[in-house]
Amino acid sequence: MPDGSLAPYAVSERNSRGRRIAEDPPAGRGEFQRDRDRIVHSTAFRRLEYKTQVFVNHEGDLFRTRLTHSIEVAQITRSIARALNLNEDLAEAVALAHDLGHTPFGHAGQEALNECMKPFGGFEHNLQSLRIVDLLEERYAEFDGLNLMYETREGILKHCSPAHARTLGELGRRFIDKRRPSLEGQLANFCDEIAYNNHDLDDGLRSGLITLEQLDEVELFARERARVCERHPRLAGRRLIHETIRRMINRMALDLIETTSANIAEQRIESLAQVGEAPALVAYGEGLREPLQALKVFLRENLYRHYQVLRMTEKARRIIRDLFSAFQSDPRLLPPQYQAKAKDDAPRAIADYVAGMTDRYAIREHRRLFAVGEIH
Ligand code: MG
Repeated sequence: MPDGSLAPYAVSERNSRGRRIAEDPPAGRGEFQRDRDRIVHSTAFRRLEYKTQVFVNHEGDLFRTRLTHSIEVAQITRSIARALNLNEDLAEAVALAHDLGHTPFGHAGQEALNECMKPFGGFEHNLQSLRIVDLLEERYAEFDGLNLMYETREGILKHCSPAHARTLGELGRRFIDKRRPSLEGQLANFCDEIAYNNHDLDDGLRSGLITLEQLDEVELFARERARVCERHPRLAGRRLIHETIRRMINRMALDLIETTSANIAEQRIESLAQVGEAPALVAYGEGLREPLQALKVFLRENLYRHYQVLRMTEKARRIIRDLFSAFQSDPRLLPPQYQAKAKDDAPRAIADYVAGMTDRYAIREHRRLFAVGEIH
């Protein structure tokens, strides 16, 4: 893949730290394209289709799932990466992989599993994403995991506690030394937020849990809605919402491109090494920070803490806790391949099994273990 069009501070095949296990170079595509392709073909990626973003998979066919969320994140990340002359393939790979380690039932599932795993080193979904691409995928003859490029793995591991960082060798060192990941990694993280802040609003409106009237108080939405109404005074319903939200996404993306370019110029960044040492370069301008914060607060108070969402969240927690404690009290209840893994480290094998479940698989497994009258 020709690296000629990339900015000097972008990750390229030339400045990359490569793969943990050396492989022959790919034919007809670049190394980072190969990473993206491996992620798309992985089992963990397909499972994202049936995992919750906010609404549990069976609540409606049109709500975002982790899969459609990841595709939206990849789309936004790729567009901005291209505008900044960054490595689009790397940015896309990180975006597609960023949620691979998520448990069923979104954040409720992650929190419940983390509580169960507290005495055994805890559970972090970011670290689990890395564990999937480094270890858990079983697809290749010569290695466990997907053997991804260093910078793809670095981008996936966006947060990490200092205790875990110490166990991760070179990849963990940046958290201890407080260095930044590549611009592509930083960007994917911001685009994750752009995607969910906007699509959660859309899903919230679609579900009826939040209303258009409530959004008059949210500057980001109200401003773009006013612009749409000025241009299309009779527009209403879904088209009005869509026209408003697409403008919000555009505003955030353009702001990110402009502010990030200005930061790169101001800090005189000319190499990948300088990106690691510099302050965070991917950022929003001053004007967007407060309105964005207000949007997040709005979503937290009105959607994520809506009583109907909380009811489902509480059920989800209970399912995860029940599954974990049933397997913990008797690992023989695990499917055979996990029983074998449980011999070395039972809690971690259970966490891997539970985290890998889709929403509906977890619900079914719970029924199989706890409902009298259910068979296997
Ligand atoms: Mg995400």
